[in-house]
Amino acid sequence: MDWIRLTKSGKDLTGLKGRLIEVTEEELKRHNTKDDCWICIRGFVYNVSPYMEYHPGGEDELMRAAGSDGTDLFDQVHRWVNYESMLKECLVGRMAIKPAVPKDYREEKKVLNGMLPKTQVTDTLTKESPGSPSYDWFQTDSLVTLVIYTKQKDINSDSVIVDHQVDSFRAETIIKDYSYIIHIGLSHEIQEDFSVRVIENVGKIEIVLKKKENTSWKRLGHPLENHNSLIPKKDTGLNYRKCQLISKECVTHDTKLFCLMLPPSTHLQVPIGQHVYLKLTITGTEIVKPYTPVSDFLLSELKEPVLNNKYIYLLIKIYAAGLFTPELDHLQIGDFVSVSNPEGNFKISQFQELEDLFLLAAGTGFTPMVKILNYALTNIPSLRKVKLMFFNKTEDDIIWRSQLEKLAFKDKRFQVEFVLSAPTSEWNSKQGHISPGLLSEFLKRSLDRSKVLICICGPTPFTEQGIRLLQDLNFSKDEIHSFTA
Ligand code: FAD
Ligand code: NAP
Repeated sequence: MDWIRLTKSGKDLTGLKGRLIEVTEEELKRHNTKDDCWICIRGFVYNVSPYMEYHPGGEDELMRAAGSDGTDLFDQVHRWVNYESMLKECLVGRMAIKPAVPKDYREEKKVLNGMLPKTQVTDTLTKESPGSPSYDWFQTDSLVTLVIYTKQKDINSDSVIVDHQVDSFRAETIIKDYSYIIHIGLSHEIQEDFSVRVIENVGKIEIVLKKKENTSWKRLGHPLENHNSLIPKKDTGLNYRKCQLISKECVTHDTKLFCLMLPPSTHLQVPIGQHVYLKLTITGTEIVKPYTPVSDFLLSELKEPVLNNKYIYLLIKIYAAGLFTPELDHLQIGDFVSVSNPEGNFKISQFQELEDLFLLAAGTGFTPMVKILNYALTNIPSLRKVKLMFFNKTEDDIIWRSQLEKLAFKDKRFQVEFVLSAPTSEWNSKQGHISPGLLSEFLKRSLDRSKVLICICGPTPFTEQGIRLLQDLNFSKDEIHSFTA
């Protein structure tokens, strides 16, 4: 907040009195001290010296990129931070040398006519990347069908994210750690809604668009940025769309269940274990924070189950002194918030032949566990036991306590234990913090050599300590999945 105030104060933060300059590599290298520190991110150069003391990671982290191109470092640590908005008052100018354009880009066909253009591949593509996907399209009087051939078998409905806006149609297909992007300015208007069908065993995706007028299209449209490219997922940028707040319900004294509705012109399903970023403009600056969608399966006894995938449920704790959550809490039903594409490295394959699943959650670190719990209990035939150890300060902080207890009553494979760090004198169950004693008693395999997965999520020090304790208890890296920032 203090940083935002400083950027609004009108103070000259670049030392260039509002001028923007072209920066050569030599010039950039010269600005490499704490008091005079320039960093290049994606071709733009920022004077970050005034920002040093406000940077949550501290000066040393910023100084690692002093006088150089910090794009890779930035992507490793803060890919989701909207630096353009945070640092806009620190912009010095552009690098004089333009970033390399992928080969053949200029030769790309400007008109898409249903032939299969050669997939553009960025320079960073490695040998492990998937074989070239491609696309085609065909039409009837009323429909246009776009077909994406991924040439991969592990594709499902979560793998494709489609957004249609007035002037652009974008479909991003996640293939391992890559994104295959179709990005087109359509030649004719289409209706808002469309359907997406995934033929999993052949890795084919069909997106059926409804024409606004029943005329024959001579061409699909013209290519937009990154069209027909296969690029590392980390380089695609976070794509946002505006979602409407449909409901907001209190779950505990400080945690609420937010239900957001995706626009009809978007197809997006957040995979298990992944999070999205929410973006709001707060006092003129775009602020972005990650949140992990939950499913409503624990509520299904209370509510009608939701049959379509148009809703995103988020359990969010409101911190009275926080930057983002109070603003989110102020949204009225019907207001909009921007939601990004999903991110995260949890893989469903971690469940393969799983026998024992142990979940260690602290506070809102419970959120990734909700979908994991649902998926494991419904889809893993080999599963014998699922145990959740849920750490909170007080009884009032426990999210969905009665729903969890009901589930344990209904499904004998599931057990839940609550541990409180600041209980009242009436609490006669487990108390304290994560510890070797609590874990060794809790993590008992159902069979001597049963296949185990332990998922852990909570405040960073909790998670880090938990991982150390699990390693001390001889669980291997493959048996532990930690959710971290
Ligand atoms: P912040 O401004 O970050 O402040 C949080 C708290 O810290 C406040 O109490 C504030 O007073 C205190 N604080 C801030 N700065 C300082 C300081 N310098 N010194 C001392 N105290 C300070 N949260 C959820 O509720 N639900 C989720 O599903 C969820 N999913 C997440 C997924 C991921 C991958 C990650 C990394 C985080 C997730 N979070 C989730 C946390 C979420 O992203 C935010 O960090 C959280 O909502 C706090 O945001 P805020 O801006 O309101 O608070
Ligand atoms: P909280 O209520 O402050 O804490 C929950 C429990 O964890 C409390 O019992 C607390 O004990 C304990 N705890 C805190 N720090 C600890 C430590 N260093 N060692 C051992 N135990 C510790 O938690 P919260 O406010 O809900 O915060 C949840 C956290 O989870 C946030 O940091 C959020 O970013 C993170 N999160 C991450 C993801 C992800 O995917 N990466 C998803 C959701 C949430 P005390 O009483 O001693 O504090």
